Order: sequence, then structure tokens, then C-alpha cells
Amino acid sequence: MTSIPAFEHTPIDKISNICGDVRNAFLSHKTRPIEFRLQQLRKLYWGLKDHREAIVEACKKDIGKSSFETYLTESSWCENDIIFMCNNLEAWAKDEKAPDGKLMDTAFSPRIRKEPLGTVLVIGAYNFPIQLSLGPVIVAIAAGCTVVLKPSENAPHAGAVMQKILAEYLDPTCYTTIQGAVPETTAVLDQKWDKIFYTGSEAVGKIIAKKAAETLTPITLELGGRNPAIVTKNADPRLAARRLMWAKCLNAGQVCVSQNYTLIDKSILPAFIEQVKKALGEFFPDGPQKSADYGRIVNKRQFDRLKKLLESTKGTILHGGHMDEADLYIEPTVVQVNDEHDPLLADESFGPLIPVLAVNDIDEAIRIANSVHDTPLGIYPFGTTAETDKILNQTRSGGASVNDGFYHASIPTLQFGGVGTSGQGAYRGRASFECFTHRRSVTTTPGWIEGLLDVRYPPYNMSKQKQ
Ligand code: NAD
Repeated sequence: MTSIPAFEHTPIDKISNICGDVRNAFLSHKTRPIEFRLQQLRKLYWGLKDHREAIVEACKKDIGKSSFETYLTESSWCENDIIFMCNNLEAWAKDEKAPDGKLMDTAFSPRIRKEPLGTVLVIGAYNFPIQLSLGPVIVAIAAGCTVVLKPSENAPHAGAVMQKILAEYLDPTCYTTIQGAVPETTAVLDQKWDKIFYTGSEAVGKIIAKKAAETLTPITLELGGRNPAIVTKNADPRLAARRLMWAKCLNAGQVCVSQNYTLIDKSILPAFIEQVKKALGEFFPDGPQKSADYGRIVNKRQFDRLKKLLESTKGTILHGGHMDEADLYIEPTVVQVNDEHDPLLADESFGPLIPVLAVNDIDEAIRIANSVHDTPLGIYPFGTTAETDKILNQTRSGGASVNDGFYHASIPTLQFGGVGTSGQGAYRGRASFECFTHRRSVTTTPGWIEGLLDVRYPPYNMSKQKQ
């Protein structure tokens, strides 16, 4: 079994040199050949395979994640992303011919070269510590960039395992890790970057965006949720309850794309609540705390925040409510709230708090969803096709899963990203490659065409214009 190395903050006085070395590696053109990128991706694949047990152990220690969830959403997720990239890389990296225009233009071979953006910084969040850090790293490698990874300090074991894998399996001059919290990240942000890829909260996203704006550095921001689920009167309450409870119990609700609140037609609220209780009982027959499949809150700070948030609601707890600070455990807790202004709707809970608000009809649900946050990361309508289409047509969101909780985020060929304040830019699928690639427009002017080009040279005259 591979042991987990110790987590150590990177000394701040070393950060500038580390980043400079990675920049120099890009400038050496080492990462440009496709074969080099494929070789590095294959090595990373084996690094992940060799460290599967360490990854499981790290995610268990960091966030109480079950082995199954770690396998599904962290290790095999990244392994599959690597296979997907390797299978598509050559096709995506090829020059793209410009669409046919004027006949003469084709003589100039107008085309788009796919160029790596350069040296990129990837800043990860804690909740899927491996996936959200290595996912963008995999793509940046595929695109031919050199990379500095700054994982979340709130998942230190996962951070340490990734640092070990990158150092032992990849070319250390091209890909490296900087560990730390705000002071280290601030020092990292002071360096020169060709792209910053950030996953995390909206508040920190603004700090990153401001910093990047000073140097016109392009950014991708994968930000917070506040996502609504809408369950109409024609939805199947059992199906909606099982799927939404799955989405809220995975990672103990610490999922950016999980529903933050559910708006439900008042006529099926009782049936829905009954099915919610039934589903939770089926998922965790001995209760969630005793189940190996239910995670924990990442740390005391987040535990206290969730506790305070639950205390602030004016709603009624219909199920759950148990908390155990020593174990950082919070039971999936269903709260019926009275109105759309309840803090459980306004704030992103990012935990297993499950507010439900009864509505009179679909129009009221749409109005409330749009007024709580008009550009959430995801939206989850349940109902007939006509109803779910209406909801999609009258709302905005980064993505959507119809009749499910966040399934769209798990499709590797589908791009993922926010809109408005839930994010900028997207990755996964082909969008991943484009995220770290500059589409460089190029033409080549052949020598034989000079006679035809005569028209463009001064002195100009009207007879030339007629040619
Ligand atoms: P966070 O914003 O606290 O931290 C994310 C990263 O930012 C960490 O690496 C951290 O070290 C760094 N950071 C924190 N404060 C900073 C500062 N002042 N200056 C510079 N860097 C700083 O987020 P988190 O608690 O790790 O994750 C939870 C949030 O992330 C939620 O809002 C969630 O919705 C969001 N999230 C979004 C996605 C997505 O794909 N859209 C995925 C996961 C999480």
C-alpha cells in the first residue's frame, strides 16, 4: 500500500523560482510535440492507478468520503478523462481548415493552428479534491501547456498524494505543485500566467478575476451553486425523491452542482416528503452516521457554518437535524421553509441541508427560481416534457439535468461550466482542450501568386479597382 506523504506548505520565498522554472520549461517547447503530451498523460494514468489506495485513504481522511464515491468521482473519473483525452488529442490538435470562402482565398491555405496557451495555474477546491485539481491538469497537459497546481489546503491528504504523483510520474520541470492557503495562493497569483483555471467559491472567484484583470490574464472560473430543483404536480414523487436525495447525500451535499433548494407543487408535497424519508431509509438502513457510504463535513469551520445556517431558518425540520461535532457529521436534514427569503434558499448551503418550499404552480416556481439567483450553476426540473421544457425556456443556468440531480455533470463528452456569477468558461469534452488552447489563425502566401497580388500595391488607381 502506498502511504500518504506529509502535507507541507510551499515556502513563499521559493514560489517565484518554482513558477519561473515551469515557465522556462514551456519556453523550451518541450511540451509541444503530441507524443510528449501523450506520454505524460499515460504516465499520469499509471500514477493514478498505482495510488488508488492512497487516494481512497486521503479522501477518507480529508472529507470522510466512501471508497465507492472516491472510486467513482475521483480516481476512475480522472483515469477515464485521461483515456478520453488520449483518444481525441491527435484529432483535436490538428490544424483546422478555414471554412470555404472566396475561391482565391484557398490559395493562402487559411487555417487554425491549435497552440498551447502557455504556462497555466490550476487552483482546486476541496470537495472533489482529486477530480477538480487533476481534471484541468489533464487537459492542460493534453493542450501542451506547462502547469502549476495549487490544490485546496482543506483537503491536505489529497493534495499531498497529488503532489507525489506529479513529482514521481511526470516531467517535474513542466508540471509541479504548490501547497498552501491564502498567503501562498496570493504569492502564486503574483506570478505571470498565461491562464488561470480556478474552481471554488464566488467570493474568491472575484479576487482571482480582479488579480487576473491587472495583467489581462485569461481565466476560467468554476464557481458556486445555489441551484434549484423544481418538482411539478405531474412529477413522480418517488423518482424525484430518490434522485434528489442521491444528489444531496453524495459527498454529504458538498457538491457545487447539487440542488440548494427544492420548489415543489403543494399538491404533491406530502407524497414527496414521504418518499424522501423512504429513500433516505433505503440508502442508509442503519442511519447515515453508521453508514460507510455517507461522508462528513470537511472541517469544523464548515460544520459551524452549516449549523448556524440551519439555526437561522424560520422553517420546520421534517426529517433529520442530528449533528455530531466530534464526528463532523450532519444528518441529511429536510426543512420545509415558509418563503423564498429564507436563508436556506438565499445562501449556498454546500452541505446536507435540504430546504423545500411549496409553490402553487410552475409559474410561481419559475418566478422564485429566477429571483433567488438568475444564473445558477445547475437547474433540475422534474415533470412532464412540456413542463420541464417550459422551465428550461424560462430560466438560465450553467447546465441542467431534466428529471435528475446533476447527471449532466458526469457526461465526459458534455462541456461543463457556469453562466453569469456561477462561472465563466467551460471544460470537459472538447471544450476542455479549447480551454487551454489558442486558436491561432494562419495563412501562407505562395510565391506564384505575386502577379495576382499586384493589385494591392500602391500606387492605386481605378483601373486596378476594376480588376
Ligand atoms: P474556496 O473558494 O474557499 O477555495 C478554493 C481555492 O481557492 C482553494 O485552493 C483556496 O486555497 C483558494 N483560496 C481561498 N481563499 C483565497 C484567497 N483569498 N485568495 C486566493 N485564493 C484563495 O472554495 P472551497 O471551499 O474549496 O469550495 C467550495 C466552493 O466552491 C462552493 O462555493 C462551491 O459551489 C464551489 N465549487 C464550484 C465547483 C464548480 O465546478 N463550479 C466545483 C466545486 C466547488
